[in-house]
Amino acid sequence: MTVEKVLEFIDVVIVYDNFPAVAGATFSVNAGEIVLLQGANGAGKTTLLRACAGLLPIARGSANVLGCDLRLDRLAVRSRVGLLGHANGLFQDLTVLENMLFWSRLVGANRNDVDQAMDAMGLSGRLSQTQVAKLSAGQRRRCALASLIVRRAQLWLLDEPHAGLDAQGRDELDKTLRAARDAGATVIFASHEIERASALATRSLIVTSGTVKQA
Ligand code: ATP
Repeated sequence: MTVEKVLEFIDVVIVYDNFPAVAGATFSVNAGEIVLLQGANGAGKTTLLRACAGLLPIARGSANVLGCDLRLDRLAVRSRVGLLGHANGLFQDLTVLENMLFWSRLVGANRNDVDQAMDAMGLSGRLSQTQVAKLSAGQRRRCALASLIVRRAQLWLLDEPHAGLDAQGRDELDKTLRAARDAGATVIFASHEIERASALATRSLIVTSGTVKQA
């Protein structure tokens, strides 16, 4: 059986204002993996995740995500990955349901998919009609995760996804990520909650000063 490579970075350098936040990163990820990025504050995890989503220019090296060469075309990959960063990417003036419907229309998901995603993240009923601006921080995080579920991305990129969630929300998130993987998705996530994250991950990578090595 051939293993499908979802991502391959070779000697990748990413520079912010002359500072190499990623300084020669080489790693690859296969389809169906749940990969944990571990590392100290400022090590380069967020930068790597944003680069995988096609949001940052690659200064050197080769970077391929879902068959797209990020040096040639970063736009092509954006619609195929789901990125949950520190900002949650929600429309503050819209309700939870309206945000979900926006994403569902973009990706051709139906109302049933929307209801299931809201249900999985505990956002049914009153909360579905609540403006995002009026949600608590954890509820906003749940809404961002629900919109990611609806997108059914091939590659999920999550920056500290458990942050701000209560115990039940964390369990629901883990269940959601395992289900996404079972449905054929690949997950890369950064976390400082090593115990929980290690139990979820199928493999860990250590990020140190912009380089990546196996745990
Ligand atoms: P944390 O665990 O604190 O979230 P991280 O591993 O995600 O850290 P990054 O956010 O990727 O780290 O930052 C890597 C380095 O790049 C840091 O030294 C940071 O100061 C720098 N950096 C990040 N974003 C920018 C930016 N927009 N402009 C300039 N430097 C940046």
